Amino acid sequence: MQHDPNCLFCRIARGQIPSRKVYEDDEILAFHDIHPWAPVHFLLIPKDHVPSLAQVTDAHAPMLGRMLALAPRLALQEGCNPYPDGGHRVIINTGREGGQEVHHLHVHVIGGPRPWLKG
Ligand code: 5GP
Ligand code: ZN
Repeated sequence: MQHDPNCLFCRIARGQIPSRKVYEDDEILAFHDIHPWAPVHFLLIPKDHVPSLAQVTDAHAPMLGRMLALAPRLALQEGCNPYPDGGHRVIINTGREGGQEVHHLHVHVIGGPRPWLKG
């Protein structure tokens, strides 16, 4: 398992920085965003250090698939309303121009009753 001791999300994945956990398995961690945009806002990350979506290869496809499959299930668990009147946004900011601030791959899952702070 790759990790970068200076990476914030690697440190969260290893329990060195506390987070409000939503889900965890051997490969994936989900935790609440510290600055939520909406009533529900959590992040899904691989425990392995992957800097962004720009570095993924075919070898990462099962992990990405699992994160995407978890997103709607965890969204409902965390209080998003069901599709189609409810739902949620799934965002993967990639690179500086893509709005990425933390350089460890993460999937934002954002939802709940509107209005939201942004998005
Ligand atoms: P990005 O802009 O890179 O797509 O998103 C990074 C997200 O990480 C932001 O929404 C930000 O609020 C969140 N974040 C930054 N630092 C922490 C932290 O220490 N703990 C948690 N739970 N979220 C964080
Ligand atoms: Zn990392």
